[in-house]
Amino acid sequence: MANLADLLARNDSLKNRQEAREQAWRQQLYAMHPVIEQLEARKRTLLVDQLQEILRQPSQKDAIKARVSEQVQEIEVQLMDYKQQHGIREYVRDEICPLCGGSGYVQGVLCTCIREQAYVEVLGSQDFLVMPGSFAEYNDAIFGNNDVQRQRTRGIRLFLQDYAKKYPHSDKKQMLMTGQAGLGKSFLLHALLKELYQKEQDICCISAGRLFDYFHQHRLGEGYAIDLIYEAKILAIDDLGSEPMTANVTREYFFELLCRRAENGLYTIMVTNHSDLALKERYTERTYSRMVSVKDSHVLRFEGDDLRLSLT
Ligand SMILES: [Zn+2]
Repeated sequence: MANLADLLARNDSLKNRQEAREQAWRQQLYAMHPVIEQLEARKRTLLVDQLQEILRQPSQKDAIKARVSEQVQEIEVQLMDYKQQHGIREYVRDEICPLCGGSGYVQGVLCTCIREQAYVEVLGSQDFLVMPGSFAEYNDAIFGNNDVQRQRTRGIRLFLQDYAKKYPHSDKKQMLMTGQAGLGKSFLLHALLKELYQKEQDICCISAGRLFDYFHQHRLGEGYAIDLIYEAKILAIDDLGSEPMTANVTREYFFELLCRRAENGLYTIMVTNHSDLALKERYTERTYSRMVSVKDSHVLRFEGDDLRLSLT
């Protein structure tokens, strides 16, 4: 598996490649259209001269700026006309992230473009964008053909679609989907995340097995992976309870994770096959209360094989 340094190095070389490509494109353009090079050079000269002129005559600053801006605009119009006449389009930097300009960091914080890759390639979390799950497919007759079931299925779908629509202004930032296996909870989770992804790309969807692995590692002092999990704008934990029964200390970490994310206004979505009673036994009363908190958490209970949804 990759580490964070690998991703940043790959990002750097991508940026360099892009810059080299853009430079080559520009040189070719200048060779074919010297007029463009001349006009752009004149524009640069005007702006440099302007600076020097202002330094010499600070009191004339506004007048100088107004005059130069007019001259620059004239050149830009000429450039535009020329490019239009010759069908020349602007260079498109399609592979460079607009948030960080390819540096990988925004104000010292790891950019979403790197985080996204790190979740999958460093943490081994789920690449939910390519996993099965969509609201369009979760439809009408998925669990049977009678009207009641159809209505229930539709109800869940509408609730989750509405939740995604309200993001990031949802009233509750935590969600728990509980119920026995085989009712399409993970399918729905992925459908929801895909919808949320339209608005927020900083999403980590990790299996509980991996999450608790990282809790163990954290204890051993490997910090940055756990930081990613703590900081993800949206954290989805799939199959909670499938991890091996763990030491008390990792259950403490789990509790702390939920608290800290809530305090920081981050979204946490959990999916589990366990019943309320089993969750309580497994994670302690205190953590369970946090998971089903009426104030902070939407709880979707998928009950029985006919998909009875109880929403609290
Ligand atoms: Zn970026």
